[in-house]
Amino acid sequence: MNSCSSIPRRSLPALLLPAPALAQARLPAIITTTAMLADAVRALAGPAARVESLMGEGVDPHLFRPTRADTAKLLAADLVVLNGHRLEGRMEEVLARLAAAGRRVLAMAEALPRAELRTHPEYPDAADPHIWMDPLLWAEAAGTLPEALAPLLPRAKLAENLAAYRARLRRLHDYAAAALGGIPNPQRVLVTAHDAFGYFARRYDLAIDSIQGLSTEAEASLIRIEAIVAMLVTRRVPAVFAETSVPDRAVRALIEGAAARGHVVRLGGNLFSDSMGRAGTYTGTLEGMLDHNITTIARALGGTAPAAGLNGRL
Ligand SMILES: [Zn+2]
Repeated sequence: MNSCSSIPRRSLPALLLPAPALAQARLPAIITTTAMLADAVRALAGPAARVESLMGEGVDPHLFRPTRADTAKLLAADLVVLNGHRLEGRMEEVLARLAAAGRRVLAMAEALPRAELRTHPEYPDAADPHIWMDPLLWAEAAGTLPEALAPLLPRAKLAENLAAYRARLRRLHDYAAAALGGIPNPQRVLVTAHDAFGYFARRYDLAIDSIQGLSTEAEASLIRIEAIVAMLVTRRVPAVFAETSVPDRAVRALIEGAAARGHVVRLGGNLFSDSMGRAGTYTGTLEGMLDHNITTIARALGGTAPAAGLNGRL
């Protein structure tokens, strides 16, 4: 006998109503820690999965602590994609719980060969986690996604979407190489609030200096600020940069310090370092975020880039 016939008549409307929600619930649920990771997963999965990042605009992943609701989402997901290499410094407990529960987890940066990653004396047992800053390194890291997504989605579609995502990143890289290549030599120094631009600087041949190290957890030191001010004055660097996910107090101290020594340094702009712009806007995509950074840096340090950026959308 058909089991439906045993359902009391009065409960039928309640059963029928949630049908669209039930259809949606069948889509695989993928939770990422950062929005940059969600950008890559969405590009590969397309509409065939529900992708959500825990961290929104302006959230600092080094300091992020998941709420109880975040933990529940992570434990219920079909796949969790995180960056790794200690970017999510305060999530170790919940990530250990996921591993203990046998949940599927991909640490995208940790899947890259160590030889390609920057090392840092602050973290002898991990590498620099900020891999999304280099479009070509990110394109390579996205190559780990098809394997992780294969149980959820068709492989042919994943390969096609990966190729399209990589083509967009390659175009962004070409733009960056041209725009940043024009910065004159003594000014090829990128000074930021924390050390998030190491891969970016390595790719585009810039020197870097930052007030805080790889993580934003430690306090900025006065000795550090003094040393950077001296370098700015000596090299006549025209601009320094704040970051949207880090308070700009220490960056302003650099500008004041240089002014006190008779060298005008301006605030070149607010860069997206560990967090993208608002969801639904251009800078709320990895392409838009990096376009903003490349264009802002090139224009402030003496390179050439159109004010509206690669796609005329800034
Ligand atoms: Zn960072």
